[in-house]
Amino acid sequence: MQGQKKYTNQTFTKRVDHEAGRHHTARAMTEPAVCKVCGDVYADRRWTVPEPEAQSEKHPHFRPATQVVCPACQRQEEGVPSGYVYLEGAFFAAHRDEIKRLIQNEIERTAVKNPLARMMEWEDEGTEKATITTTTEHLAQRLGHALEKAFDGEVRYDFSHENKLARVYWRRG
Ligand SMILES: [Zn+2]
Repeated sequence: MQGQKKYTNQTFTKRVDHEAGRHHTARAMTEPAVCKVCGDVYADRRWTVPEPEAQSEKHPHFRPATQVVCPACQRQEEGVPSGYVYLEGAFFAAHRDEIKRLIQNEIERTAVKNPLARMMEWEDEGTEKATITTTTEHLAQRLGHALEKAFDGEVRYDFSHENKLARVYWRRG
């Protein structure tokens, strides 16, 4: 549910995660640290998914000393999302699998840049409605854009600056 981590070495080394860095510059944390829940690594002020092969060549005995819970796992544990995506309509009911695949792909693409962007839950409400919760507000907005681009329909974005909470409503009848 929280996404299969299928990153190729190539995509991972080519990209820089501006997102992850930006979210955590305010918080001083001991480096390197590892999330004891998902295993992501915090170093150089950003979170990354560790690459076992690359790491073992360079630092055969590298083990981050500090064990923490990364912000994404923390949200998951506490059940506090940063984003909601509401899906609705007859088109959604008829193309559920296709839509689910698009969302999964978009989540994986986002995770390359920011491994802290994850889906928390996919909750179905009957056949014509579903709610997705995400660990970052940015991911919810991205999913809205991806849905709009791929399937049209109507989309509405609500963003609360106060608590940094994004709500995205997408429907196609
Ligand atoms: Zn984690």
